[in-house]
Amino acid sequence: MVKKQLELLVALQDLDMMIREVEDVRQLGFETPSLDKLEKAREELREKIGKPLYATYERLKARYKRAIVPVKDDTCLGCFMRLPTSLAARGREDAEVITCENCGRMLYWLE
Ligand SMILES: [Zn+2]
Repeated sequence: MVKKQLELLVALQDLDMMIREVEDVRQLGFETPSLDKLEKAREELREKIGKPLYATYERLKARYKRAIVPVKDDTCLGCFMRLPTSLAARGREDAEVITCENCGRMLYWLE
């Protein structure tokens, strides 16, 4: 249920990283391709993402390079803490957005 939204958010995060890379290269004084296309794609994605979810993403992004991270073997790949079994079970139900109890990042489950 929330999976689709989280997938969009992961895609948005990828775009944000690409935009940041271009900006970094530009700061070094190199010529870079225009950011217009990336920013347009970002805007289209953002419109599809629920406002509260996007707000959480922005808040976390100020703190972490990755605001949303995958879970593998019930472990948050942001901070490498093992999630409590109950939380991992809730995450797999795909009914709500789960955040890591340790680092606060949003989590998504890899198949
Ligand atoms: Zn974590």
